[in-house]
Amino acid sequence: MKVEINTPSKSYSVIIKSGAIKLLGKQLNAKKYTKLYIITDQTVGPLHLDTLKAQLPNDLEAVEFQVPSGEQAKQFSVYEQCLEFALENGLDRNSCIIAFGGGAVGDLAGFVAATYMRGIDFFQIPTTILAHDSAVGGKTAINLPLGKNMVGVFHQPETVIYDIDFLKTLPTSEIRSGFAEVVKHALIADPQLLKYLMENITSLSEITDDMFVYILGRGIEIKAAVVSEDEKETGVRAVLNFGHTLGHAIEATAGYGKYTHGEAVMIGMVYALYLSKEKLGLTYDISKFIEWIHQLGYDSHIPNYLSFDQAFQAMQRDKKSVANKPYFVLLASVGKPVLEEVEKSLAEKTFITFKQME
Ligand code: NAD
Ligand code: ZN
Repeated sequence: MKVEINTPSKSYSVIIKSGAIKLLGKQLNAKKYTKLYIITDQTVGPLHLDTLKAQLPNDLEAVEFQVPSGEQAKQFSVYEQCLEFALENGLDRNSCIIAFGGGAVGDLAGFVAATYMRGIDFFQIPTTILAHDSAVGGKTAINLPLGKNMVGVFHQPETVIYDIDFLKTLPTSEIRSGFAEVVKHALIADPQLLKYLMENITSLSEITDDMFVYILGRGIEIKAAVVSEDEKETGVRAVLNFGHTLGHAIEATAGYGKYTHGEAVMIGMVYALYLSKEKLGLTYDISKFIEWIHQLGYDSHIPNYLSFDQAFQAMQRDKKSVANKPYFVLLASVGKPVLEEVEKSLAEKTFITFKQME
């Protein structure tokens, strides 16, 4: 499957299939690069780097750098090491970076590509489910000790090659994290996809290649449609934040690592569904949805330690907030997201009822 991404700054393809990596050599040959610089992490490197390297053109020199796995990759010090490595190895303006890994590597390597010598080309070769979200749209970033993704720019890749064979080594917890974003894309844009997911996916370890191609491809199409309308996130792109207002608050207060991103977002989405029911009269069957996500191993409860005040403070710091009032992406119906201010009293009442639920 191939999805075309059209943004005002660039158009490019996302190729999603088993064995897609075999297309890399041809794509690179067409570009006449001077050198390649593969950035991967210490988990993906040992597992899959040989497969990637087997596809590189013989006459194109490639250097590689392995960064720490997970969020550790997005530290300033690692970013600096990546740039120094590029300079030491003679990368020039006509060289190309390959981001080979999950969203963390994609964000870091994309930011290195965007800033090295004021910007060079890069390819995204995502290896997680979550990366169906992060590899498309051109947001790149690293973290500061006080805030995630606080330093970054928009820089679109040349091509995204999404070989679903790489997903086979993912631990279930990472599948669960990424799959939550597929569910998000379905909830905000595609009732058919949601129906398909709920009917066909009842275990995260039994998703077939064909299912992956369909659900990831559709997720990418949805993200692409939003991003092409609003490349730099000034308006409609906010709908991609569905579930993230409380989700981020849970991640931030639990300490990063206790919940994966997707697990926290899933709880946030359930909260947003309840808010949508209260505020907009959403008629969707939330208990059936909760039953399904439990079956997939998600927790649907607000963590016990998290008080409303703590959560509210964190939600007020959300980037959608205006004048300290939290704005939520809510659903008028499945597929119809709206950005709404939610009064503190309603946020609190819903929070408390939701927290007490079994
Ligand atoms: P990740 O890159 O940290 O990967 C998760 C874990 O899985 C890591 O430990 C990694 O080493 C491991 N891994 C990756 N591929 C593997 C494979 N094939 N087999 C076995 N293990 C593998 O995280 P992620 O969940 O892919 O992405 C999260 C990051 O993406 C966050 O930093 C988030 O801020 C960012 N993000 C960016 C955007 C964007 O638009 N740029 C959107 C959403 C999320
Ligand atoms: Zn997310």
